[in-house]
Amino acid sequence: MGQPKNPYQPVKAVIENIIDETPGIKTFVIKPEEAFGFHCGQFAELTVPGVGEGPFAMSSPCHKPEMLEFTIQNVGYMTQRLHKMKKGDVVGVRGPYGNGFPLEKYYGKEVVLLIGGVGFPPARALLYSLLHEKDKFKRLLMCYGARTPQDVVYKYQIEDFRKQIELHMTVDKADESWKETEGVVTVLLDKVNFDLKNAVSVVIGPPIMMKFGTLKLLEKGFKPRDIFLSMERKMYCGIGQCRHCMIDHLFICKDGPVFTYQELKDFPDIWE
Ligand SMILES: Cc1cc2nc3c(=O)[nH]c(=O)nc-3n(C[C@H](O)[C@H](O)[C@H](O)COP(=O)(O)OP(=O)(O)OC[C@H]3O[C@@H](n4cnc5c(N)ncnc54)[C@H](O)[C@@H]3O)c2cc1C
Repeated sequence: MGQPKNPYQPVKAVIENIIDETPGIKTFVIKPEEAFGFHCGQFAELTVPGVGEGPFAMSSPCHKPEMLEFTIQNVGYMTQRLHKMKKGDVVGVRGPYGNGFPLEKYYGKEVVLLIGGVGFPPARALLYSLLHEKDKFKRLLMCYGARTPQDVVYKYQIEDFRKQIELHMTVDKADESWKETEGVVTVLLDKVNFDLKNAVSVVIGPPIMMKFGTLKLLEKGFKPRDIFLSMERKMYCGIGQCRHCMIDHLFICKDGPVFTYQELKDFPDIWE
């Protein structure tokens, strides 16, 4: 009998390309040694050898498992080292982990994406999946907010997305180059109408944005069961062992990261 597979063992992956998105955010295009099948909304543990690992959402289409993209903000120890890596360097990847978005529950409905800042990576994987079977949804709409025009990620794809979905954008602080809305992302929800009986919403972004985004959706009449949240927590193992990511009895890493607001609303401090 062979040794059981070590669940913490990453697969090697070569950095094929690095795209500078904003001054603090880069997209890493990596080719794993073996195809890495996943469902949109799932995440992986990405390793910088000799430094450490961290959880990151795949931002690439899940029907392309041979090449993965991760869009990563430089916020600390591991991400700083990752941002110094170059094309041809080797990282590790293990996973995929988590549940991902339940697309079949969105069939026939208006799907409203409310996205802030570096919430766009998992939202982009979701968008690719929604567009892949666009006819199954009644309407696709995305409200995206960033701090400033410079903080908008995937600038080179915005016009293409705009041709395929209703896209509204805002920045907290505009400059003379900005032709769209100025204000926090929730202001965009006042500019659009929904068929509330037949709509779901997906909220991804920093905790404060997720909190006020969810409250605004409730105010607009969305039911807690129709608001889907992709949650982030400080997380280490990714596989339900270390317990760092728990909210009450739920593991963000294996029960989530996608939950309905209905599932979480009675727990304290969910937006921390
Ligand atoms: C399911 C999931 C998906 C994620 N997807 C992305 C993504 O697509 N792009 C992206 O840029 N980031 C993503 N993150 C956040 C990312 O994991 C952290 O920013 C990263 O691990 C920080 O590592 P560090 O060593 O550079 O920072 P540290 O030096 O450890 O800390 C820097 C700061 O980040 C906080 N932090 C550290 N680890 C985490 C963590 N795992 N989650 C939340 N906050 C943390 C610390 O409390 C501290 O305030 C995701 C997190 C989760 C849980």
